Amino acid sequence: MSALVWLRSDLRALWNSPLTYASQHHDKVSALFFITPGQWQEYGLAGIKLDLIVRRLLVLKTELAQRGVHLNLIEVKGHRQVADSLAELCQQHQISRVYFNAEYELDERRRDKEVRRRLGSLGVDVGIFHDTCLVRPDRILNKEGNAYRVFTPYFHQWLDQVQNHLQAVVAPTPVLKSDKLSGAVEENDEGLRRFLSASPDSVWPVGQQQIMENLRSFFVHRVAEYPDRRDIPAEQGTSRLSPYLSIGAVSPLQATNLLLNIHGGRLFETGSAAFAWLRELAWRDFYRYVMYHFPHVCRYHCFLEKYDNFRWYDDQAQFEAWCQGKTGFPIVDAAMRCLNETGWMHNRLRMIVASFLTKHLLLPWRWGEDYFMAHLVDGDFASNNGGWQWSASVGTDAAPYFRIFNPTTQGKKYDAQGNFILAWLPELKAVPLKYLHEPHKWSGFKSLSYPAPIVDHAKAVSRTKAHFQHFLEAT
Ligand code: FAD
Repeated sequence: MSALVWLRSDLRALWNSPLTYASQHHDKVSALFFITPGQWQEYGLAGIKLDLIVRRLLVLKTELAQRGVHLNLIEVKGHRQVADSLAELCQQHQISRVYFNAEYELDERRRDKEVRRRLGSLGVDVGIFHDTCLVRPDRILNKEGNAYRVFTPYFHQWLDQVQNHLQAVVAPTPVLKSDKLSGAVEENDEGLRRFLSASPDSVWPVGQQQIMENLRSFFVHRVAEYPDRRDIPAEQGTSRLSPYLSIGAVSPLQATNLLLNIHGGRLFETGSAAFAWLRELAWRDFYRYVMYHFPHVCRYHCFLEKYDNFRWYDDQAQFEAWCQGKTGFPIVDAAMRCLNETGWMHNRLRMIVASFLTKHLLLPWRWGEDYFMAHLVDGDFASNNGGWQWSASVGTDAAPYFRIFNPTTQGKKYDAQGNFILAWLPELKAVPLKYLHEPHKWSGFKSLSYPAPIVDHAKAVSRTKAHFQHFLEAT
């Protein structure tokens, strides 16, 4: 019996349950990835993320071939064409089973429902696995059987389940054993290559071995300092694993298992550095959980729906200044220029610039969400949406609206020597450190080619507080 494994956001040969299962239960296993330019465009995916996907696919093809599995690349416009294409393929190649990992976004769930219906009508079984999260979203509920709306109680249950789960894990080593879908499926590497951009391979390597070596090195040498260094943008204090998680080059279970192998039981000690890292992975799962149980967030709605009526401002010029890194607030500008140039932004900076856009400029969080998606190498709907809604105080665990980051204080605290700022704003090199976070206060400011602040911090904060208060009183 032939089986087809449909790869989506799980671009790996190992630690991939559908592949493992298929290879253990079928004589012939093929893999498939749909190239969907129309869908990528609709989602506004960043060129650098597409580049990562394409480079990963080209390497994955070899990694799978070494295990006897051919990766077929088929181009369709988008989700709506997938069910027909799969049905045709199953009929042509006498495929009796199709396996894949669940995706929890609303559009993807609809697509998969249609796929199941179409294949079911042809007598093709569909097997769904749940590698995307460490704990699948339908497995955590409160005593009343409802989904949690805040992180902390969710996290307690999540941790119990992760501990049990990890004890049961045996590293899945698939013995794959099949070949290509004979003849009919054309090679489509060239079709894929047109999405490559000029990003240098070395920044985000895509071979499985290299990715895992980098992660191992982080877990062995640097995770101990994670609690102290994770907020310093000028340092490499975090794992930089998110791009790989977002395309599934690494699974969260694979990463956690490695961490457990290196740090043993300390992983679950509340104060340990490894535990601090694991907790961040819980946030990733949590935002997927929110998307699964509260699908309205996939439709541009606020998690706290009353805020759908909140009146954000509409100042395009200020938005443009934020995008270009020309707000006159050095930490914000350095962060945005880093994003524009590299496709990467440190988590602390994401929080600072998101707070600035939504609280200082009172511009819609959705503008920022889209902008991030169009530029980030790790653009991921759930984490991005969750991060933006949190920052705008309209999401889960919402920071109350009156807690507003002061970008100057944040800069002084997390980039005390100005190393990050100077790396991205060379025009501030002449500014004495004392004034680096507020260059407009320096006597030589007029000689710089750097803008004055586009808003006054104190006035912006009181304007925002009043605006939120007024809204809340009226609702
Ligand atoms: P580490 O600190 O090493 O953390 C390990 C892993 O935990 C990360 O790879 C990530 O998968 C997860 N993680 C860490 N922090 C968070 C968090 N706050 N929320 C969810 N998961 C987290 N992350 C994305 O992957 N894609 C996005 O599009 C994205 N957009 C964001 C937008 C905003 C406004 C904010 C505030 C955060 C966003 N994040 C996003 C979360 C976070 O900034 C990144 O996951 C993190 O910077 C990745 O760096 P790292 O891999 O070195 O993280």
